[in-house]
Amino acid sequence: MSELKILQKTDELHEGRWWEPEAGGRVHCYLCPRHCHIHAGQSGFCFIRVNQGGKLYSLGYGAPAALQVDPIEKKPLNHFLPGSRVFSMGTAGCNMGCFFCQNWDISKSRQDQVRSQHVAPEEVPLLALQHGCDSLAFTYNEPTIWGEYVVDICAAAREYGLKTVMVSNGYITYQAFHDIYDHIDAANIDLKAFTESFYGKTTLTHLQPVLETLEWLKKETKVWFEITNLMIPTLNDDPAETRKLSEWILTHLGPDVPLHFTAFHPDFKLQDKPRTPAETLHRARAIALETGLHYVYEGNIFSEGANTCCPKCSQLIVRRSWHDVLENRLVEGACPECSLVIPGVWEKSSKPRASGIRKTAGNYGHLNL
Ligand code: SF4
Repeated sequence: MSELKILQKTDELHEGRWWEPEAGGRVHCYLCPRHCHIHAGQSGFCFIRVNQGGKLYSLGYGAPAALQVDPIEKKPLNHFLPGSRVFSMGTAGCNMGCFFCQNWDISKSRQDQVRSQHVAPEEVPLLALQHGCDSLAFTYNEPTIWGEYVVDICAAAREYGLKTVMVSNGYITYQAFHDIYDHIDAANIDLKAFTESFYGKTTLTHLQPVLETLEWLKKETKVWFEITNLMIPTLNDDPAETRKLSEWILTHLGPDVPLHFTAFHPDFKLQDKPRTPAETLHRARAIALETGLHYVYEGNIFSEGANTCCPKCSQLIVRRSWHDVLENRLVEGACPECSLVIPGVWEKSSKPRASGIRKTAGNYGHLNL
């Protein structure tokens, strides 16, 4: 547990969900499988859930540290509103301890170490519409740890027909799972490796809870979800591990869940590994396709492995370059050649949007609100 540098007045804080009081003024947070038992005046592992006066508060509520407009392909989601723009947001903190984190500037920071300003849940969809977005993504750091804010934003987004996306490490308890994912339209879940030793040593967590989350998503929700496996040379790129990971997905989730193999670049505490060679991603994709998965992608490199092809007739359906959609030949969600239905969410909401919303273009970087 971490000692808080600055204690705020409790009337300025948002009380959290998913906790219970314990003896001696401690609180038990059961939002994620860490199950932090937090003493008064301290925070949990994720930094942004704090015990103040024997109650758990969420410092991330209404306090985004990053707001940006991204292509949906950057999440990555290839079967969800292709070519659309997604209003993306994240806060400080994280419940994993990945040595290779590529957003460590916010995920490894406490709330008082990031530049954030208050954005109420009901303001978020208006910002998204002003910037021509069709969906909202909870991303950059782990959105589970600010689940209270996510749920309230989802309620506001529904009023405007905006869809919602979780980009998550999948480290959540069953007690909280439905409270959050029942409000979500799509997710990308990081399956960071397929060995407990990688999860234990390199992320400071465990593999099994992530696999359970993937099964709950498949069996108990209507959330459209895809999976990302960031391949780090020598740590999780063994072909035998890739085969086991692919076989697990095929057996437990079926052949139609898209799988993205993405390239690592040295960052944060993992500076001694090289960038992932393109050949590693080509080989992983070949293994996953051979295993029987239908939609397998390569990311963070320029590659034909970014395209969507029909698993039945091999016809090119969506052609991409990095995060850009160059051509989309889908016909009502099906292959234009053999009419095989391609699983995914291809249509935007038909719900009327607020009139007079200004549509703007370009790369916004971090928005200045
Ligand atoms: S969400 Fe944060 S405080 Fe709660 S159990 Fe997980 S790491 Fe601990």
